Amino acid sequence: MKSYIWTCANELETSRLAEELGELLQAGDVLALEGDLGAGKTTFTKGIAKALGVTRTVNSPTFTIMKQYQGKFPLYHFDVYRLENEDEDFGFDEYFEGEGVTVIEWAHLIGSQLPAQRLSISITYLDIEERRFTLTPTGERYEQICVTLSKNVQGAITHDDISN
Ligand code: ADP
Ligand code: MG
Repeated sequence: MKSYIWTCANELETSRLAEELGELLQAGDVLALEGDLGAGKTTFTKGIAKALGVTRTVNSPTFTIMKQYQGKFPLYHFDVYRLENEDEDFGFDEYFEGEGVTVIEWAHLIGSQLPAQRLSISITYLDIEERRFTLTPTGERYEQICVTLSKNVQGAITHDDISN
């Protein structure tokens, strides 16, 4: 499995990466975000939203599981941290196959319900303002998004994990 890795020195660079990714997204795309509390999942989602033309303020949906925003198409912003168990069915498929882009914070918590084809984004805290973003695509479409993104946003390094 191949990964595309960016190191963002500050929040502005994170926003830029997210916005450039957002520009490449279409209805039906699913982004699975991982990272500890404060890593930058919601910050990254704000950048996606901006690129989709969402004008409302995006904030963490922790207490509602999902918030929907309207841009050039809908953004379904999930935070599944508080779901009781990973099999709890929130009707995810209708969103994943729906008219909008889906972003899921803490995606591994609904691991069994995630679509096979998705863009996994793991955020690692490196320093107060520095974060590492590891994008791992499954499926041709997300692979192509990563290739294009690595041309549009400088600094990408790629990593091949031969164990997968
Ligand atoms: P999460 O949703 O993963 O819990 P948030 O996006 O809510 O994280 O919070 C990330 C925090 O880290 C914000 O306060 C943000 O300002 C700060 N931050 C500092 N540097 C960065 C960076 N490079 N990228 C993203 N967030 C950053
Ligand atoms: Mg969050």
